[in-house]
Amino acid sequence: MDDIIIVGSGPAGISASLYIKRAGLSVKLIGKDGGSLEKADKIQNYFGLEKAMSGSELIQIGLRQAKELGVEHITEEVLDISYADEGFEVAVKNGSYKALAVLLATGAARKAPRIEGLRQFEGMGVSYCAVCDGFFYRGKEVAVLGHSEYALHEVKELLPIASKVSVLTNGMAPDAEFPENVKVYTSKIKRLFGSETLEGAEFADGEMLNFSGLFIAVGSAAAGDLARKLGANVVDNKIEVNNDMETNIPGLYAAGDCTGGIMQVSTAVAEGAKAALNAIDYVRKKKKV
Ligand SMILES: Cc1cc2nc3c(=O)[nH]c(=O)nc-3n(C[C@H](O)[C@H](O)[C@H](O)COP(=O)(O)OP(=O)(O)OC[C@H]3O[C@@H](n4cnc5c(N)ncnc54)[C@H](O)[C@@H]3O)c2cc1C
Repeated sequence: MDDIIIVGSGPAGISASLYIKRAGLSVKLIGKDGGSLEKADKIQNYFGLEKAMSGSELIQIGLRQAKELGVEHITEEVLDISYADEGFEVAVKNGSYKALAVLLATGAARKAPRIEGLRQFEGMGVSYCAVCDGFFYRGKEVAVLGHSEYALHEVKELLPIASKVSVLTNGMAPDAEFPENVKVYTSKIKRLFGSETLEGAEFADGEMLNFSGLFIAVGSAAAGDLARKLGANVVDNKIEVNNDMETNIPGLYAAGDCTGGIMQVSTAVAEGAKAALNAIDYVRKKKKV
């Protein structure tokens, strides 16, 4: 078991890893790609840059700095986080890692897909967390909206509970091996329908599919999705933290764009540092060292 796992290797996660490693604690830095900074052509407003630099260059420098210090950087997508032993278990495609504390630094939440009826049925059939809400659909027909590993993970959560699970890719090509007993619909979704609660989806070609629960798992799990699974407070897809960057769950911290506020490299770096220092304190108290 590690002391701290950081999910997200953008400025917030990398900054946190430097403090944790230098404090002598064990840390894993898990990220699936370069995050939003990779899309930035030129960064001119961050301290210490004499000349404008591309976001991907800045992220590579940060990663090299962390690796030189001995931080273990793992390029993987995190699919789930649950409680385990004295801490947390972070699930990836082919295994899991455990730590006493977790820092979520997965960047800004992606936008919910624009499908007619989706907002209307949130909490009345539309859910963002299979492990949290799956129980309410025991013996019922449900669907998962998504096309990749994260959708497959949610399917696996639902199969033992629901009477039938379908996958709706909404026009995307499936990018995971879904079980044979799960039908995959690749057509675009026209709308979700129902009266008071969700009753199903109509596809663009006019086909109708009835189900009473739709679990959203588009793309990768965002910080809000992962935090919700642990019962952390998430408002408007932003993780609620106190002044110590700690969520309402002891040992679970969040930093950077996933907490909202000013979405800039400087704030992500600062929040990462603050979260790290408080997580270090938490782990030391837990280990009584
Ligand atoms: C086009 C553009 C231009 C910008 N220009 C500027 C600028 O000039 N100056 C400035 O200060 N800021 C700029 N920003 C904002 C800046 O990029 C962000 O504020 C900053 O990168 C946030 O850092 P972060 O660490 O919170 O998140 P991110 O940098 O988004 O990093 C998130 C990390 O989480 C990982 N991740 C996400 N989900 C998972 C998962 N399920 N499993 C594993 N890993 C996961 C990603 O792979 C990534 O490593 C710009 C942003 C964009 C999009």
